[in-house]
Amino acid sequence: MEDAIRTVKVKLNVPTERCDDLHQTKDQFLHCANTTSEWAWRHPNDYCVTSKQKAENALYDRLRDETELTANLVQKGIRRAIEATKSGVARLEKGEKTSQPQFDAWSVVYDKRSATFHRDHVSLSTVNGRVECDYVLPDDPEDTPIGEYLLNEDYEFRMSTLQYDRSTASFYLHARMRRTTDKQDQFTTTSDDAKHRTVLGVDLNVDGSLAVTSTGAFIGNADEMNHRRREFEKTRGSMQQTRTRSAHLSIQSMNDREHRWIQDELHRASNRILDEARNHGCTHIAFENLTDIRTRMGGGKRFHAWAFRRLFEYVEYKAEMDGIEVARVSPAYTSQRCSSCGFTHEGNRRSKHQFVCQKCEYELNADYNASKNIARKLLKRLHSGQTSSSGGAPCQCALKSGTLNLNGEFHASVDSTVEGESTDKPTTSVVGH
Ligand SMILES: [Zn+2]
Repeated sequence: MEDAIRTVKVKLNVPTERCDDLHQTKDQFLHCANTTSEWAWRHPNDYCVTSKQKAENALYDRLRDETELTANLVQKGIRRAIEATKSGVARLEKGEKTSQPQFDAWSVVYDKRSATFHRDHVSLSTVNGRVECDYVLPDDPEDTPIGEYLLNEDYEFRMSTLQYDRSTASFYLHARMRRTTDKQDQFTTTSDDAKHRTVLGVDLNVDGSLAVTSTGAFIGNADEMNHRRREFEKTRGSMQQTRTRSAHLSIQSMNDREHRWIQDELHRASNRILDEARNHGCTHIAFENLTDIRTRMGGGKRFHAWAFRRLFEYVEYKAEMDGIEVARVSPAYTSQRCSSCGFTHEGNRRSKHQFVCQKCEYELNADYNASKNIARKLLKRLHSGQTSSSGGAPCQCALKSGTLNLNGEFHASVDSTVEGESTDKPTTSVVGH
C-alpha cells in the first residue's frame, strides 16, 4: 500500500516572549521521556517494559505532578520512550549492542489534542498555556512540499514534532500530513465527518456513585473516596501540627495507602467507563466541564476537582488507543432537564438522587438522567459541526438498551433481548442501582 503520509518542515514565527515557554516545554517533555526510559529499561531484573499501558499506569501520575505539562504531552513523552525501548529490545534480540535510550535532542511530539493545526498557523500547548505560531510560508509555495501537502486540503495533520535549530535560533514544525481522500481512509477510526457517531455520556458525582453513564452503569464509590480522603487528612493534619503551619493539603504529595487507593479507584473507574464505551460501540465520551463542576462543590472542593480531572485524563489517554474521542460539555441544566421530554425545571428533582419530570412524570435516577443530557449535548455539538458533504451521518446517544438520536427516535439494540428490561423510551420506568 502506498504510504500516504508526508512530512513537511515549516518554520514557525514564535512570539519572542513565548520562546522560553517552548524551551521549558521541551525540557519537561524530555524529562518524561527520560524518566520513562530509565524505569522501563531492564526493569526490574533485566526485563524491559514495552507496554505503553503499563508504563502509563506506573508513571503517569508521578510525571503529571513533576511537570506543568498537559496530560497529553506527559502521555506522549512516556510513549516516545516506550517506542525507543521497543526498538532497543529488538536490537537486543538480534544480539546487537544497545543501551538505555537517552533523550536529549530538541523535540516535542504534538497531536490533535495538544495542538490545533491550521493551514497558516498552529496553536501549541506549553507549560504556560497555548502559544499561537504563524507559519513562515514561501512567497511561491506551489511545487514545494508546503504547497503540495501543508496547504492542500486533501491532506490532514497527524502527529507532528516541534523542533529547534540552535544555529539559527528558529523553531520548526515537522508536520506529518496524511492524505484523506484515499479509499483506505474510510476504514480507519481517525477522521472524519462522514462517520457514524455514538456518544456515551458520563455524569460525575461528589457522593453516591462516582460516575454514572448514559448506558445506565453506576461506577465507583464517591462516598468511600471521601472517607479515604478524610482519613488521609487526619493523619496529615496531626503531622503538620508538629512541623509547619502551612495548612495546604497537597494532594499531589499524598503518598500513603489512602492516596494509592484513590488513584487505583480512579483507574478502575476509568477502565469501566471505557468498557462501557466499547461495549456500546461508542465513538465519543462526553463529560461535564470540570472547571464548572468545581464551583458547584462544597467541602473537599480541591479534592473533588483533582479527582474529576484525573479521572477525565485517565479516560482520555486510555480512549486514544481505541480511537475514541473524549470531550467536555457545559454542565448548564444537565441536572434539571428531563432526558425524556426535554422539559427543564429546577423542581424536576425529587431528591438528590431522584429525578421526576413535572411535565411527563418520567422518573429515574437523577445522575443517570444527567448523563443522558450530557451525551445529548455533545451530540448536538457534533451534529452542528458536521459539514454538508457528510450527508447527515448518523449521530446518536448510547443508552442502556439502544440508541437515541437528536430527533428523539429510539432504536433498540439488536442484542437487547432481556425480558422486561427497562428501556429509555418515554415511560415511567425507574432505573435504579
Ligand atoms: Zn419529561
